[in-house]
Amino acid sequence: KPVVLSGCQPSGQLTLGNYMGALKQWVSMQDDHDCLYMIVDLHAITVRQDPKQLFDACLDGLALYLACGIDPQKSTIFMQSHVPEHAQLSWVLNCYAQMGELNRMTQFKDKSAKNENNINVGLYSYPVLQAADILAYQADKVPVGEDQKQHLELTRDIATRVNNLYGDVFKLPDPYIPDFGARIMSLQEPEKKMSKSDVNPNNFIGLLEDPKKLTKKIKRAVTDSDEQANIYFNPQEKPGVSNLLSLLSLSTGKSVKELEPEYTDKMYGHLKGDVAEAVVSLITPIQEKYAQIRADRPFLDEVMRSGAEKASERASVTLKKVYDAVGFIPKP
Ligand code: ATP
Ligand code: MG
Repeated sequence: KPVVLSGCQPSGQLTLGNYMGALKQWVSMQDDHDCLYMIVDLHAITVRQDPKQLFDACLDGLALYLACGIDPQKSTIFMQSHVPEHAQLSWVLNCYAQMGELNRMTQFKDKSAKNENNINVGLYSYPVLQAADILAYQADKVPVGEDQKQHLELTRDIATRVNNLYGDVFKLPDPYIPDFGARIMSLQEPEKKMSKSDVNPNNFIGLLEDPKKLTKKIKRAVTDSDEQANIYFNPQEKPGVSNLLSLLSLSTGKSVKELEPEYTDKMYGHLKGDVAEAVVSLITPIQEKYAQIRADRPFLDEVMRSGAEKASERASVTLKKVYDAVGFIPKP
C-alpha cells in the first residue's frame, strides 16, 4: 500500500479549512493506503503558544481526528513530539537545506510578518522539519491544502539533493491536493485563506464551535458589494460569495455547477442561511462523537502510545539509513 503522511498543528482549534483541505482526504485514504497522521506539536511552537492551551489543543486535535473518522485500527495516529526521530532527522536535513530556498517560502514570509516580535529560527526552518516528517516514513503521498504545496516541493528538492550525494536514501513524495476544497477562504477577508491561528475569530469556523455561534459568523461573512447582488462562482470577482458556494458544495456534496442555478433569484441572505444549515449538519455528528472521545483520556493515551511506538519503529529505520549515509559511526 502507498504510504501516506500528514498532520495538523495544535495551534488553535481545527477549522473547516483543515477539514476540507486535509482531514476529509485523510479519512478517505485509510482503506487503500498505509496512513500515518500526527499532531505536529513541534511545529506549533514556532509561534508562541500558551503551554496549557497547547496541551489542551493537542488532546482536542487528537480527539477530533478520531471523531472525524480517522481509525486507529487502520491508521497510525501520534504526537510528533513522541517520535524523537522527527527532530533528529530534521537536524540532518537542516544541513542539506539552503537558506536561499527557505527565504522563498511564502508561509515564513506571512507568519514572520504576523509575528514580528518572534521571528525565531524554528519558524524559518519549519519546512525542513516538515520534510523530515515526510521523508522519515518514505511517504508516497502527502494530502495537504494548497498552502503546503511549496513546502512539498522543497521536501522533494532536499530529498533529491541527499539522494544525489549518497544514493537512494529517500523516496520522493507527491503532494495530494484535492481539486476542490484545498483553499477555504477567511470569512471576513476572503482574499486570504482561513487559518485557525487567525487573530480575528470571525475569520474562521472551528469544528467545535457552537452551531448558534457559527451560524452568526456565516451570516456576518463578507459578501462582495457589486451593483447586482448576483450569486455565482468566480473567486476573482466574488471571493466572498464563491467561498460560501464552496462551503455549501463541500458540506452538501452537490457540485457548484448544480448549486448556482438554485440561487439565480435569491439573495445573499438565503445563501448564507443554507450554508450555515449545511455546515451545522456536517459538524454536529462530529461534535457528538468528539465529546465522547475527548472524555476518555485512557483511550486517547492508548491511541497515542501505540501510535508513537509504531511510528518510531518505522522512522528509526530511515534515520539509521541517513546516519550511515552521512558517515556517522553506529552506536557500538
Ligand atoms: P495555522 O494558522 O496555525 O498555520 P492552519 O489553519 O493553517 O493553522 P495547519 O495546521 O497549518 O492549519 O495545516 C493543517 C492542514 O490543513 C494542512 O494540510 C493545510 O494545507 C490545511 N489547510 C490549512 N488551512 C486551509 C484552508 N484554508 N483550506 C484548505 N486547507 C487548509
Ligand atoms: Mg498553516
